[in-house]
Amino acid sequence: MSGTVKEAVSLMEVLPESDQNFVLEFIKKLRFFSLAVILWIIMSITMTACSPMQGREEAYSASFFAMDTYMTFTVYDDDAKAAREALQQAQEEIGALEALWSVTDEDSDIYALNHSGGQPVTVRDETAGLLSFAVKMAQETDGALEPTLYPVLTAWGFTTEVNRIPAAEEIERLLECVGYDRVKVEGSLVTLEDGMMLDLGSVGKGYAGDRAGRILIEKGINSALLDIGGNIQAVGARPDGSDWRLGLRSPFGEGIFGTLQISDRAVVTSGNYERYFIGEDGVRYGHIIDPETGYPVNNGLASVTIIAGDGKLCDALSTSLFVMGLSDAVAYWRTHQEEQPFDMILVTEDRKIYLTEEIKGKFNLQKECKDMVIYPVTSSVAEGKNGNYKFRP
Ligand code: AMP
Ligand code: MG
Repeated sequence: MSGTVKEAVSLMEVLPESDQNFVLEFIKKLRFFSLAVILWIIMSITMTACSPMQGREEAYSASFFAMDTYMTFTVYDDDAKAAREALQQAQEEIGALEALWSVTDEDSDIYALNHSGGQPVTVRDETAGLLSFAVKMAQETDGALEPTLYPVLTAWGFTTEVNRIPAAEEIERLLECVGYDRVKVEGSLVTLEDGMMLDLGSVGKGYAGDRAGRILIEKGINSALLDIGGNIQAVGARPDGSDWRLGLRSPFGEGIFGTLQISDRAVVTSGNYERYFIGEDGVRYGHIIDPETGYPVNNGLASVTIIAGDGKLCDALSTSLFVMGLSDAVAYWRTHQEEQPFDMILVTEDRKIYLTEEIKGKFNLQKECKDMVIYPVTSSVAEGKNGNYKFRP
């Protein structure tokens, strides 16, 4: 079966408006260039924009490939040696986490679990911690987040990039091996039923961003922007104290649809435009699977961006709210945002943007995307006739 797998990214930059438009034009022209090239261009311009003219801090950055994606960490500091050491340690931490959670590395905790034949496995504390979190989020989201979906993902070829459309009976059979409620985490001892397999792809990068950010702070860095394959972890604010201005990548492949100003936050996006293949039937199949059906999500949502202090929470929610669809995602936000505050930007296939009221003033629609209509999501949204939530523009 022929197919294409594409990797996209929510682009970020730290530029004034004029430079930002310049970058946007560039991105439009370079749509078919690799992600690495686009990021390189943005980072190069960014470095120029953040010259010591603005303060004593200079930008130092490291770009590398890890966890199956490109990452660029940029720190701002007046001490070159300290900045480089901090970058080095943050990058090493990512490598260490990747070694724990790789599904292919035979020495990883996840590999050991996936080949345990139902026997208990002692895993490292960080693995047990993230697994407990993933299982808890699976419970909270009523199974929209499903860390044991790996056999189904493999059948679709999303783990090997040799994509295929599995037969309905095959999916049905594989779904019998799926169920977060059958994962036992007791301290550092984890038991997975025979035949089941785990994958932390939906939460691992968010957690990695949290860890890298914490290491930078411990090393005395107050201002840094970590781009983890398009997900952003912002440490503090820009060196001059102002918010970072991030460009949000359009799920429709037209560059950036808007900008978002944030400090000290993680911004994580999920969507089936990021990694997908076109089947022989001409249908587009994306990498986020609805655990109820075993088929790629196709519910009218184009992308979900979650904004919160905790990267792993953002990561878990971006994937699971994408699975839920618009109505259930809004309902989830309304019932959970008080005890676990987060903001979100939901983009639908019919080019509507739903965003939570807190970030309304921080979001700016790109002028090229003025046809997109923005609907604020408030905590007092009226219920529509058909049981769906009705949004007021
Ligand atoms: P993200 O990019 O964070 O949305 O995570 C997507 C990745 O998580 C996919 O590439 C799969 O490896 C895995 N995945 C797909 N669907 C699900 C799901 N419903 N729950 C948990 N993980 C999933
Ligand atoms: Mg995720």
